[in-house]
Amino acid sequence: MKKTVAYYRSSTDLQENSVTTQQHQALKYCMNNYLFLDDEYEDEYVSAKKKTIEQRKDLSRLLEDIKNDKIENLIVYKRDRLARKVEDHMLIYYLLKEKNVKVHFTSNTEYPMKYNNFAEILELMLGGMSEHEGKQINERILTTRIANFEKGMTLDKLPYGFMAVGNNEIAENEDEIKLVKFIFDEVCSGRHYSLNHLRKYMIELNYTRRGKEWKTVQIEDVIKEPMYKGMRVRTYGGQNYFREVNEHAIFKGEDSVIWDNAQDILEKMKPQRDLDNETKVEFALEDGLVCCGICHQKLEQKIRMRKGKYVGYYECKHDSVAVASDWIENRIFDKAQDFFAELMKTNLNSIFKRYWESNNKRFDKKIKDQETLIELNDKRLGRIVSKYLKIDKNVPQAISLREKMEKLKVELEINREMHSALLIEKEKSCGYPTNELKVKSNTDFFSNISDLTNDKKKEMISDIVYRIDVERYSYGVIFKHPFLELRESFDEDN
Ligand SMILES: [Zn+2]
Repeated sequence: MKKTVAYYRSSTDLQENSVTTQQHQALKYCMNNYLFLDDEYEDEYVSAKKKTIEQRKDLSRLLEDIKNDKIENLIVYKRDRLARKVEDHMLIYYLLKEKNVKVHFTSNTEYPMKYNNFAEILELMLGGMSEHEGKQINERILTTRIANFEKGMTLDKLPYGFMAVGNNEIAENEDEIKLVKFIFDEVCSGRHYSLNHLRKYMIELNYTRRGKEWKTVQIEDVIKEPMYKGMRVRTYGGQNYFREVNEHAIFKGEDSVIWDNAQDILEKMKPQRDLDNETKVEFALEDGLVCCGICHQKLEQKIRMRKGKYVGYYECKHDSVAVASDWIENRIFDKAQDFFAELMKTNLNSIFKRYWESNNKRFDKKIKDQETLIELNDKRLGRIVSKYLKIDKNVPQAISLREKMEKLKVELEINREMHSALLIEKEKSCGYPTNELKVKSNTDFFSNISDLTNDKKKEMISDIVYRIDVERYSYGVIFKHPFLELRESFDEDN
């Protein structure tokens, strides 16, 4: 029967968990999960950065046992106990994957180890990233977003009437803008007592939104859109950022009164019960993923009436914490997309590069060592041969020289074999970055989250988000990467 084992490692770093602590956590984990611990491996006071895998006695023993199919469950505190260098980490990961070892992390902040294509990319990042790098990415994501927005390079979700051309050009859609003006005219006329009344009027006139019937929420969004009076607003890190886009304003100068009036009238247009939205409210986040930031229990998925519409909510029974589902979901999609794009853009390549370089260096050194050895043995053989040629073949010294010659020849043969084996191995192993191409095609999957089906969205978010914490005035996304966490305040409209 295959075994359940635990591995502990401590370094000389006092801040790290000691072997005793790790052992205690492993035993507790086993007890809670009905596992019987068959064996333990420990490397005490061993740095995973300075020592090679071979220099870590018990890790080598563990890997040997895994290779020999002896192990089913491996209990370990965190990834960094196994390796601190990405090349070591990946080596171990591939072995665990090949032997289908189930890895249990006793630290509850550690992202579980899985064996699929996507998990492999994550492992590369997890294995190669330091805490410092993780924090830098967080900051970079935010700063880049703000800078791009202020420079007008963010074209995320252009309002109705506009579309993106190329990378950062905004084009106007005349027909759509006409319809925007129509909506504002109708609102300001005061003819409609509700948004739904206006909506029905638009259906009568056969006005559709990109081929589909208008929804009241969409009409409301049009009326509230500040870009129609030349202003874009975004909230980053809980702060509002504005950018003037006067060239795209529909209500310029004196006309801006129209926009302001519409806001006042909108407030008075009490929406009626909307039959369309009653049909289905879909939650796009896995049940249990959104948690209460106060009591830390999962938020319940509830459907409630709000201003005559059926709206999904994530809420906590005990604390007054509640958030509209589509509101939080859209933000999570945004953040997940940013997060992943940023990781791909800045980090993965550097990890690959680092891996590639250190791998190359390691091989080059081994190859060079063999070459030196071949050269040395060649010279020794040469000396023995010339000595042998000069002496009488019948003296005992000649016999011993002959023996030495034979031995050296064998040794040289081994050296040469080793040398060519290393060259082949290097070529195989350093062909690794071709994986990069595979990885890039995976990013396409994330390029257009809003177009995905609800199930796909759920799957994707569960793959990269560990937990979402909602509090009364802010929310935080904890990504499965242990060092990545984003926190933002709610917009005032929620
Ligand atoms: Zn709560």
